[in-house]
Amino acid sequence: MDFKDIAVSKDHLQSIVKNIDYNKLILYHYDRLFKETKEDKLHRKRESMAGCNSFWVLDQYEQAKVKDFKKTNLCKDKFCNNCKKVKQASRMAKFIPLIEPYKENMYQLTLTVPNVKGEALEETINKLFKSFARLIEYFKGKEKIKGLDFEYWGYKGAIRSLEITYKKVKRGRGFSYEYHPHLHALIVLEGELGERLYKNPYSKDYLGNRAVRKFNKEELLIQKIWRLLNDGKRVTLKNIEALDIGYSCQLDRFKESDFIELFKYMTKATSEDDKGMEYIQFKTLYYSLLNKRQIQGYGCFFGLKDDEEITAQEVEEYYNSLIEDLRAKENPVERLESPQDLVEDDVYTLISRKKIYQHLKNIKNN
Ligand SMILES: [Zn+2]
Repeated sequence: MDFKDIAVSKDHLQSIVKNIDYNKLILYHYDRLFKETKEDKLHRKRESMAGCNSFWVLDQYEQAKVKDFKKTNLCKDKFCNNCKKVKQASRMAKFIPLIEPYKENMYQLTLTVPNVKGEALEETINKLFKSFARLIEYFKGKEKIKGLDFEYWGYKGAIRSLEITYKKVKRGRGFSYEYHPHLHALIVLEGELGERLYKNPYSKDYLGNRAVRKFNKEELLIQKIWRLLNDGKRVTLKNIEALDIGYSCQLDRFKESDFIELFKYMTKATSEDDKGMEYIQFKTLYYSLLNKRQIQGYGCFFGLKDDEEITAQEVEEYYNSLIEDLRAKENPVERLESPQDLVEDDVYTLISRKKIYQHLKNIKNN
């Protein structure tokens, strides 16, 4: 057995060390918010994040020069950079097999509303969730809009996911903070949708230059219904027809890469050269996201649970046989080491169950 095939790479370890470093900023924000509000919960969250992923329990095999990752402590905080990645990976591993059977009829639906200031963020998120549930009722035919037929769309189910991007915008001499909450949804539609024939102002690219996108009639309809719902207006055929334009929404055939969008963590800075979240942004996002469920399933995906882990039996079996081989020759010594220590270590090969999962996947795909 060549352990190199299932070795955790140095790049991966480096990225973990970087995440732990980035978390220091969030720790500082939690501390400041705790001092400001005296909410004990904030102090507990800070302590928990401070210990996140800081030590790994390893079994060290002296002769084979192998260190086997056993476990680490994760804080599962929404702002934790370690946990965002872990969460995304575990969601992908868990949900993709469940979604697979529908892949011939899957679409990615992106639903947006105009940017908002911090004060309006929480209310806007609540509205997005309510509007989405309502939109689904129309697709399902449970709620009707007189004069419109959704039956031919062949709706079967959906998974919606919340994302919020944020940025600091120059305004005169000062700055303002803007938030862009939006939904990504995977939606299963078995019907035949119209051709993309129509242009509107959302057809332009972000520079506003050229038309890059045409829409079909279903998309134009979603844009308008979505606007009426989020503006709190009655959704009737008359009100739909009275609108010049709705809110920016797109419906595209689902691509493999859309899974990343769907299952990634909730918050992200817009600018590439992000210096890290500022305190005011942290505070706004912290309170706006309190008790919000990022992922929700509908229809054929109803009851989809985001918070339990599944372990693939194959991974277990492979792992167990490997460990049996190692243990036949020697007994491991349990050790506690930080990712920083492990970056420095060039003698031992670090292996983990997660790497085995990827390794098995690679074998199958080739
Ligand atoms: Zn964490």
